[in-house]
Amino acid sequence: MDLFKQTDWPKALRPLIEKYRDKQHPLDYKNIYQLMVMVVLSAQDSDAHINKIAPAFFEKYPDMRALAKANTQELTDALSDVRFHGNKIAWLQDIASEVKEDKNIPTTMKELTALKGVGRKSANVIKREAGTEPEGIMVDLHVLRVAPRLGIAKGKNADKVEKELMEALPKDMWGEIGMALSFLGRETCRPTNPKHSECIVSSVCDYCLAQT
Ligand code: SF4
Repeated sequence: MDLFKQTDWPKALRPLIEKYRDKQHPLDYKNIYQLMVMVVLSAQDSDAHINKIAPAFFEKYPDMRALAKANTQELTDALSDVRFHGNKIAWLQDIASEVKEDKNIPTTMKELTALKGVGRKSANVIKREAGTEPEGIMVDLHVLRVAPRLGIAKGKNADKVEKELMEALPKDMWGEIGMALSFLGRETCRPTNPKHSECIVSSVCDYCLAQT
């Protein structure tokens, strides 16, 4: 790695935003209520699995009001093959009793992260999809791998990497860059055998430059 390398990160990463700006979020939700439920359910499970069970679940529980009325046994029957469903059901019940109706779903970082089962990652996802002003950068497992490879962050946990990204990039990029880096990680910068030759940010990437 070149110790004197000074990357213009905003300039270097804007093409990623252009590439992925219109790409559909991996969770196949129809509204913010569905997104909130699916974000909670997808933690430590796969987006594909949650997409598969979502239609039947939302047929039964189409909104916060219906979810608030559901008892634990009903929700367990509906979500029994979701990983850690016990905790997630308790969180969803807590959220539904707190929020009560879809129109009350909060969109600020402070209010969202006050809800059980909603951390900064989930809150950033919900804020982006709701189209509200970003208050942070979404860092999932893909971003946690890709950002240190690029050299824009050195942190080992999501909070640290999010802080480093926020320091390196202007606020007008915060809303989109998290998902853009996540999509890069899903498609190109895989955990093993990252596809450097197909990568549109390879010219600024520490990991790639160290291999050449
Ligand atoms: S150049 Fe390679 S290591 Fe760097 S971000 Fe792209 S795929 Fe990942």
